[in-house]
Amino acid sequence: MRTRKPQTKNCIYLDFAATTPLPTRVKKVMERAQRIGFANTMSLHQLGRKAREMVEDSRRKIAREIGVKPFEVYFTSCATESNNWALKGTAEVKGKGHIVISSIEHPCVIESANWLCKQGFEVEFVNPTKEGWIEPKEVAKHVKKSTILVSVMTVNNETGVIQPVKEIVREVKRKNRNTLVHSDASQALGKIFFYPKAMGLDLATLSSHKCFGPKGAGALWIREGIKIAPLLHGGGHERGLRSGTLNGPAIVGFGEAVKLCYERFSDKVHKVKKLADILISGLERTQETRIVGNHKRKVPHINMFLVKDCSGESLVLEMDHRGFCISTGSACSSEKMEPSHVLLAMGISKKEAMSSVRISLSPYTTISEVRLFLKEFEKAIEKIKKLKI
Ligand code: PLP
Repeated sequence: MRTRKPQTKNCIYLDFAATTPLPTRVKKVMERAQRIGFANTMSLHQLGRKAREMVEDSRRKIAREIGVKPFEVYFTSCATESNNWALKGTAEVKGKGHIVISSIEHPCVIESANWLCKQGFEVEFVNPTKEGWIEPKEVAKHVKKSTILVSVMTVNNETGVIQPVKEIVREVKRKNRNTLVHSDASQALGKIFFYPKAMGLDLATLSSHKCFGPKGAGALWIREGIKIAPLLHGGGHERGLRSGTLNGPAIVGFGEAVKLCYERFSDKVHKVKKLADILISGLERTQETRIVGNHKRKVPHINMFLVKDCSGESLVLEMDHRGFCISTGSACSSEKMEPSHVLLAMGISKKEAMSSVRISLSPYTTISEVRLFLKEFEKAIEKIKKLKI
């Protein structure tokens, strides 16, 4: 790969689904934007015009890669904001109605839906199959005349399973053509080709820092003609829908990162697939681990395993001690670990869900890093089993 590997000192980073480091090329365009494009994009003077030009260039880059019109891309601060906006903005315009989401969504979708439920909207959840797959027909079964919105993510952040979003849209629209369909594509951008318009979607969430862009930038794609209410009121930025001075350098970095992700894309995916095959066959050989989700329907970048009789949290800490950054599917709530809602929805027991670890790879990961990981992981399992922690 021509771009230099981002530096992760003293450890091997295998947690790319949590966030990604900045490649040199992205860093460079951001430094330039900070130097010459730092001004307020709403300012009339030449520096304001320069900042505006750089932001619009980034908007065009992102729009081109996902096959939409630039003016349909609205910059936000993160995927959490975009998801909150998609759900609450649609609900506000419609006033009342029924919302369907999958039970494997990121908490920012689930909690937005729960909040809307408290405001009087009816919310229903669709469970996945045992393989982590949301059946289009199952979604359509929930759709009724009053359904204003359906939200199903494109790639699950814990299992990596690619959801049949195009088919979901088709089934939903067949049942009620007025229902809007949103997809959180935070984990899809840069991992699969993602064309929201061609898929028939109405709204889609994009994230910068999941695809080698900086934190502090995200986007909501809103299909031309779709009306949603602003989430932030103020000075009228983003065509009056999302006020607040734009984070120019982060947006510029976001655009460059998206462009970089899709350069020689097939080679990159092929490389990650090879790494995932080594990882999966290496782990399954020990008979202590089992991959979660349908292996054939997932992105190779995200790999969730259940490790027999081991705590995921202990494994993450032990691997950290050994110089590897991975994560667990469990979430920390009020200082105690809770099993992943995604794994529970897939019918995995609470005990097994607590034994989950997620290893996420990128085109920057090397075969020797994966091999080193496998060697140390086996030792970590042995140690944890002996200590019964
Ligand atoms: N949606 C998905 C699928 C995610 O994986 C994440 C982050 O992990 C988010 C939304 C939220 O992203 P952020 O914390 O950047 O707002």
